[in-house]
Amino acid sequence: MISYAVFTLNTNKEITGVKLIKQVVLINGMPFELKTIYGMVAEDGAEEGETHVDVKDDGENSECLVCLDNKKDTVIMPCGHLCVCSECGPSLVKNKHTCPICRSHIQNLIPLKKH
Ligand SMILES: [Zn+2]
Ligand SMILES: [Zn+2]
Repeated sequence: MISYAVFTLNTNKEITGVKLIKQVVLINGMPFELKTIYGMVAEDGAEEGETHVDVKDDGENSECLVCLDNKKDTVIMPCGHLCVCSECGPSLVKNKHTCPICRSHIQNLIPLKKH
């Protein structure tokens, strides 16, 4: 995972802090940008507005596990499985289905945007 960060400078141009602005993950060799989910607090105690997403890609195939047609580009949260496409993800949520891989409750979806 590649993280982009900005440094916070004070008036003396001294670095006072580091702020993570975006994270990029490589999936099947393609860089995807992770959107920040506001209001989500990561397990490691990161501040609100920052995101720590552990994307798990089985790497075996790139097709959505639901329709077996579209490319998978949506990460299921909180389990972090990248296994559905942007069409099937929302319909899983709508029909109160669980993650196709681990059967855990779907709280959130992260659409991965092609970089
Ligand atoms: Zn699909
Ligand atoms: Zn899962």
